[in-house]
Amino acid sequence: MSYPWLREPWLRLIDSAKQQRLAHAYYLRHAPEQGSDQFLQTLANFLLCQQPDKSACGQCKSCKLYQAGSHPDFWHIDAREETSIGIDEVRKLQNKLLQTANQGGARVAIITPADKLTEQASNAILKVLEEPPANMFWLISVQQPEQLLPTLRSRMQWINLQLPALAGNDDHESANSLLSTLFAGALPPVIKDKSKATEWLDITERLLLDLSAATQSIASARFNYTELQPRYRDLTNQHNLHTERLLKAVDECRQLRQRYRQSKGLNLPLLLSLCWQQWTYHGFNTTT
Ligand SMILES: [Zn+2]
Repeated sequence: MSYPWLREPWLRLIDSAKQQRLAHAYYLRHAPEQGSDQFLQTLANFLLCQQPDKSACGQCKSCKLYQAGSHPDFWHIDAREETSIGIDEVRKLQNKLLQTANQGGARVAIITPADKLTEQASNAILKVLEEPPANMFWLISVQQPEQLLPTLRSRMQWINLQLPALAGNDDHESANSLLSTLFAGALPPVIKDKSKATEWLDITERLLLDLSAATQSIASARFNYTELQPRYRDLTNQHNLHTERLLKAVDECRQLRQRYRQSKGLNLPLLLSLCWQQWTYHGFNTTT
Protein backbone atom coordinates (compact mmCIF):
# COMPACT_ATOMS: atom_id res chain seq x y z
CA MET A 1 0.00 0.00 0.00
CA SER A 2 1.65 3.17 -1.14
CA TYR A 3 -0.49 5.45 1.05
CA PRO A 4 0.50 5.23 4.72
CA TRP A 5 -3.09 5.62 5.98
CA LEU A 6 -4.11 2.48 4.08
CA ARG A 7 -1.65 0.26 5.87
CA GLU A 8 -3.52 -0.22 9.13
CA PRO A 9 -6.92 -1.02 7.63
CA TRP A 10 -5.11 -3.35 5.25
CA LEU A 11 -3.43 -5.27 8.07
CA ARG A 12 -6.75 -5.58 9.86
CA LEU A 13 -8.25 -7.19 6.76
CA ILE A 14 -5.34 -9.58 6.38
CA ASP A 15 -5.87 -10.54 9.97
CA SER A 16 -9.56 -11.28 9.35
CA ALA A 17 -8.58 -13.33 6.31
CA LYS A 18 -6.15 -15.39 8.36
CA GLN A 19 -8.84 -16.08 10.91
CA GLN A 20 -11.24 -16.85 8.06
CA ARG A 21 -13.53 -14.14 9.26
CA LEU A 22 -13.87 -12.09 6.12
CA ALA A 23 -17.21 -10.44 5.44
CA HIS A 24 -19.02 -10.96 2.15
CA ALA A 25 -19.17 -7.29 1.44
CA TYR A 26 -17.07 -4.30 2.35
CA TYR A 27 -17.61 -0.63 1.77
CA LEU A 28 -15.37 2.35 2.20
CA ARG A 29 -15.29 6.01 1.35
CA HIS A 30 -14.85 6.80 -2.32
CA ALA A 31 -11.67 8.87 -2.45
CA PRO A 32 -9.70 7.72 -5.49
CA GLU A 33 -7.16 10.53 -5.14
CA GLN A 34 -6.34 9.17 -1.70
CA GLY A 35 -6.10 5.57 -2.72
CA SER A 36 -9.60 4.10 -2.21
CA ASP A 37 -9.54 2.55 -5.69
CA GLN A 38 -6.08 1.18 -5.14
CA PHE A 39 -7.24 -0.30 -1.85
CA LEU A 40 -10.18 -2.11 -3.44
CA GLN A 41 -8.10 -3.35 -6.36
CA THR A 42 -5.39 -4.65 -4.05
CA LEU A 43 -8.03 -6.34 -1.92
CA ALA A 44 -9.66 -7.94 -4.97
CA ASN A 45 -6.28 -9.22 -6.09
CA PHE A 46 -5.65 -10.59 -2.60
CA LEU A 47 -9.02 -12.37 -2.45
CA LEU A 48 -8.49 -13.95 -5.86
CA CYS A 49 -4.88 -15.01 -5.23
CA GLN A 50 -4.38 -18.75 -4.82
CA GLN A 51 -1.55 -18.45 -2.29
CA PRO A 52 -1.82 -15.09 -0.54
CA ASP A 53 0.34 -14.10 2.37
CA LYS A 54 0.29 -10.47 3.56
CA SER A 55 -0.68 -9.54 0.04
CA ALA A 56 -1.39 -11.31 -3.23
CA CYS A 57 1.57 -13.43 -4.33
CA GLY A 58 1.74 -11.92 -7.79
CA GLN A 59 2.97 -15.23 -9.18
CA CYS A 60 0.05 -17.65 -9.30
CA LYS A 61 -2.18 -18.11 -12.32
CA SER A 62 -4.93 -16.10 -10.68
CA CYS A 63 -2.61 -13.16 -9.98
CA LYS A 64 -1.30 -13.24 -13.54
CA LEU A 65 -4.83 -13.17 -14.91
CA TYR A 66 -5.73 -10.34 -12.58
CA GLN A 67 -2.69 -8.32 -13.56
CA ALA A 68 -3.53 -8.86 -17.21
CA GLY A 69 -7.01 -7.52 -16.52
CA SER A 70 -8.59 -10.75 -17.70
CA HIS A 71 -9.52 -12.62 -14.54
CA PRO A 72 -12.78 -14.42 -15.36
CA ASP A 73 -14.04 -14.21 -11.76
CA PHE A 74 -13.52 -10.50 -11.30
CA TRP A 75 -15.86 -7.69 -12.32
CA HIS A 76 -15.65 -3.97 -11.84
CA ILE A 77 -18.54 -1.62 -12.38
CA ASP A 78 -16.76 1.69 -12.69
CA ALA A 79 -19.52 4.28 -12.80
CA ARG A 80 -17.48 7.41 -12.28
CA GLU A 81 -18.39 8.65 -15.73
CA GLU A 82 -21.93 7.31 -15.67
CA THR A 83 -25.03 8.97 -14.32
CA SER A 84 -26.37 5.82 -12.69
CA ILE A 85 -25.98 2.07 -12.26
CA GLY A 86 -29.24 0.47 -13.22
CA ILE A 87 -30.87 -2.81 -12.37
CA ASP A 88 -29.90 -4.41 -15.69
CA GLU A 89 -26.22 -3.85 -15.11
CA VAL A 90 -26.44 -5.32 -11.62
CA ARG A 91 -28.51 -8.31 -12.78
CA LYS A 92 -25.96 -9.06 -15.48
CA LEU A 93 -23.21 -8.94 -12.89
CA GLN A 94 -25.19 -11.17 -10.54
CA ASN A 95 -25.75 -13.80 -13.22
CA LYS A 96 -22.03 -13.98 -13.82
CA LEU A 97 -21.25 -14.07 -10.12
CA LEU A 98 -23.70 -16.87 -9.50
CA GLN A 99 -21.99 -19.15 -11.97
CA THR A 100 -19.30 -21.40 -10.59
CA ALA A 101 -15.98 -19.68 -10.25
CA ASN A 102 -13.95 -20.29 -13.39
CA GLN A 103 -10.70 -20.48 -11.47
CA GLY A 104 -12.18 -22.45 -8.60
CA GLY A 105 -11.45 -19.68 -6.13
CA ALA A 106 -13.20 -16.53 -5.06
CA ARG A 107 -15.45 -14.32 -7.13
CA VAL A 108 -15.10 -10.60 -6.63
CA ALA A 109 -17.11 -7.61 -7.77
CA ILE A 110 -16.11 -3.98 -7.27
CA ILE A 111 -18.57 -1.12 -7.58
CA THR A 112 -17.29 2.45 -7.61
CA PRO A 113 -19.00 4.60 -6.52
CA ALA A 114 -22.14 2.98 -5.16
CA ASP A 115 -23.91 6.34 -4.89
CA LYS A 116 -24.79 5.78 -8.54
CA LEU A 117 -26.85 2.65 -7.82
CA THR A 118 -30.54 3.10 -8.45
CA GLU A 119 -32.82 1.96 -5.65
CA GLN A 120 -33.82 -1.12 -7.66
CA ALA A 121 -30.18 -1.97 -8.24
CA SER A 122 -29.38 -1.55 -4.54
CA ASN A 123 -32.25 -3.86 -3.67
CA ALA A 124 -30.96 -6.47 -6.08
CA ILE A 125 -27.56 -6.42 -4.36
CA LEU A 126 -29.29 -6.58 -1.01
CA LYS A 127 -31.09 -9.76 -2.12
CA VAL A 128 -27.75 -11.47 -2.81
CA LEU A 129 -26.25 -10.28 0.44
CA GLU A 130 -29.13 -11.70 2.41
CA GLU A 131 -27.98 -15.18 1.42
CA PRO A 132 -24.44 -14.68 0.29
CA PRO A 133 -22.87 -17.55 -1.64
CA ALA A 134 -19.57 -18.75 -0.21
CA ASN A 135 -16.40 -17.15 -1.47
CA MET A 136 -18.13 -14.26 -3.20
CA PHE A 137 -17.11 -10.73 -2.32
CA TRP A 138 -18.58 -7.32 -2.99
CA LEU A 139 -16.24 -4.37 -2.63
CA ILE A 140 -17.89 -1.03 -2.76
CA SER A 141 -16.77 2.57 -2.54
CA VAL A 142 -19.28 5.27 -1.75
CA GLN A 143 -19.13 9.05 -1.62
CA GLN A 144 -21.91 9.45 0.92
CA PRO A 145 -22.24 6.28 2.99
CA GLU A 146 -25.21 7.70 4.88
CA GLN A 147 -27.15 7.81 1.61
CA LEU A 148 -26.85 4.07 1.02
CA LEU A 149 -29.87 1.91 1.86
CA PRO A 150 -29.56 1.23 5.61
CA THR A 151 -30.49 -2.41 5.01
CA LEU A 152 -27.68 -2.67 2.50
CA ARG A 153 -25.24 -1.00 4.85
CA SER A 154 -26.16 -3.39 7.63
CA ARG A 155 -25.10 -6.30 5.39
CA MET A 156 -21.70 -4.85 4.67
CA GLN A 157 -18.67 -4.13 6.76
CA TRP A 158 -17.28 -0.60 6.84
CA ILE A 159 -13.57 -0.16 6.23
CA ASN A 160 -12.40 2.99 7.90
CA LEU A 161 -9.50 4.30 5.84
CA GLN A 162 -8.87 7.25 8.17
CA LEU A 163 -8.18 9.42 5.21
CA PRO A 164 -6.14 12.50 5.96
CA ALA A 165 -7.50 15.88 5.00
CA LEU A 166 -6.21 16.56 1.51
CA ALA A 167 -2.92 18.39 1.89
CA GLY A 168 -4.06 20.74 -0.82
CA ASN A 169 -6.95 22.02 1.26
CA ASP A 170 -4.72 23.39 3.97
CA ASP A 171 -2.40 24.75 1.35
CA HIS A 172 -5.25 26.63 -0.25
CA GLU A 173 -5.92 28.41 3.02
CA SER A 174 -2.26 29.21 3.54
CA ALA A 175 -1.92 30.40 -0.04
CA ASN A 176 -5.01 32.53 0.38
CA SER A 177 -3.69 34.24 3.50
CA LEU A 178 -0.30 34.68 1.88
CA LEU A 179 -1.96 36.54 -0.98
CA SER A 180 -3.36 38.96 1.58
CA THR A 181 0.09 39.37 3.04
CA LEU A 182 1.61 40.21 -0.30
CA PHE A 183 -1.09 42.49 -1.62
CA ALA A 184 -3.08 43.87 1.28
CA GLY A 185 -0.17 44.80 3.51
CA ALA A 186 -1.09 42.23 6.14
CA LEU A 187 1.66 40.99 8.38
CA PRO A 188 3.35 37.79 7.21
CA PRO A 189 2.62 34.75 9.37
CA VAL A 190 5.10 34.17 12.17
CA ILE A 191 6.74 30.82 11.56
CA LYS A 192 9.01 29.34 14.15
CA ASP A 193 9.25 25.83 12.94
CA LYS A 194 11.72 25.12 10.14
CA SER A 195 9.79 22.34 8.49
CA LYS A 196 6.77 24.65 8.53
CA ALA A 197 8.92 27.28 6.88
CA THR A 198 9.79 24.93 4.02
CA GLU A 199 6.08 24.25 3.58
CA TRP A 200 5.42 27.97 3.36
CA LEU A 201 8.28 28.33 0.94
CA ASP A 202 6.71 25.70 -1.33
CA ILE A 203 3.34 27.38 -1.08
CA THR A 204 4.89 30.76 -1.88
CA GLU A 205 6.59 29.38 -4.94
CA ARG A 206 3.43 27.73 -6.25
CA LEU A 207 1.45 30.88 -5.58
CA LEU A 208 3.92 33.10 -7.42
CA LEU A 209 3.94 30.71 -10.36
CA ASP A 210 0.15 30.85 -10.44
CA LEU A 211 0.23 34.64 -10.40
CA SER A 212 2.75 34.81 -13.19
CA ALA A 213 0.56 32.46 -15.22
CA ALA A 214 -2.42 34.69 -14.48
CA THR A 215 -0.60 37.76 -15.76
CA GLN A 216 0.14 36.03 -19.01
CA SER A 217 -3.49 34.92 -19.40
CA ILE A 218 -2.46 31.76 -21.16
CA ALA A 219 -5.61 29.83 -21.96
CA SER A 220 -4.05 26.49 -21.16
CA ALA A 221 -2.47 27.64 -17.89
CA ARG A 222 -2.79 25.09 -15.11
CA PHE A 223 -2.97 26.59 -11.66
CA ASN A 224 -1.70 25.02 -8.47
CA TYR A 225 -4.49 26.64 -6.50
CA THR A 226 -7.43 26.50 -8.84
CA GLU A 227 -9.80 27.83 -6.16
CA LEU A 228 -7.84 31.05 -6.03
CA GLN A 229 -8.33 31.82 -9.70
CA PRO A 230 -10.97 34.51 -9.07
CA ARG A 231 -8.56 36.25 -6.70
CA TYR A 232 -5.77 36.05 -9.25
CA ARG A 233 -8.09 37.65 -11.77
CA ASP A 234 -8.97 40.47 -9.35
CA LEU A 235 -5.34 41.07 -8.53
CA THR A 236 -4.23 41.20 -12.14
CA ASN A 237 -7.05 43.66 -12.82
CA GLN A 238 -6.24 45.86 -9.83
CA HIS A 239 -2.47 45.86 -10.13
CA ASN A 240 -0.28 46.03 -13.11
CA LEU A 241 1.54 42.85 -12.20
CA HIS A 242 4.86 42.25 -13.80
CA THR A 243 5.48 38.69 -14.95
CA GLU A 244 9.24 39.09 -14.82
CA ARG A 245 9.14 40.25 -11.21
CA LEU A 246 6.96 37.38 -10.21
CA LEU A 247 9.28 34.92 -11.89
CA LYS A 248 12.25 36.58 -10.22
CA ALA A 249 10.54 36.01 -6.89
CA VAL A 250 9.99 32.37 -7.83
CA ASP A 251 13.68 32.19 -8.48
CA GLU A 252 14.40 33.75 -5.08
CA CYS A 253 12.25 31.07 -3.49
CA ARG A 254 14.29 28.39 -5.19
CA GLN A 255 17.58 29.97 -4.18
CA LEU A 256 16.36 30.26 -0.63
CA ARG A 257 15.49 26.60 -0.58
CA GLN A 258 18.87 25.66 -1.99
CA ARG A 259 20.77 27.84 0.45
CA TYR A 260 18.79 26.37 3.27
CA ARG A 261 19.57 22.82 2.20
CA GLN A 262 23.25 23.50 1.78
CA SER A 263 24.10 25.55 4.82
CA LYS A 264 23.59 24.70 8.42
CA GLY A 265 22.41 27.19 10.99
CA LEU A 266 20.46 29.22 8.49
CA ASN A 267 17.35 30.75 9.98
CA LEU A 268 14.87 29.87 7.28
CA PRO A 269 11.78 31.33 8.96
CA LEU A 270 13.55 34.66 9.31
CA LEU A 271 14.85 34.69 5.73
CA LEU A 272 11.44 33.76 4.41
CA SER A 273 9.81 36.54 6.34
CA LEU A 274 12.41 39.02 5.04
CA CYS A 275 11.69 37.91 1.50
CA TRP A 276 7.97 38.36 1.98
CA GLN A 277 8.49 41.83 3.44
CA GLN A 278 10.65 42.84 0.54
CA TRP A 279 8.14 41.65 -1.99
CA THR A 280 5.33 43.41 -0.16
CA TYR A 281 7.36 46.61 -0.04
CA HIS A 282 8.47 46.66 -3.64
CA GLY A 283 5.44 44.87 -4.93
CA PHE A 284 5.12 43.20 -8.25
CA ASN A 285 3.79 46.26 -10.06
CA THR A 286 5.47 47.58 -13.15
CA THR A 287 4.98 51.13 -11.87
CA THR A 288 6.77 50.79 -8.53
ZN1 LIG B 1 -1.35 -15.12 -6.35
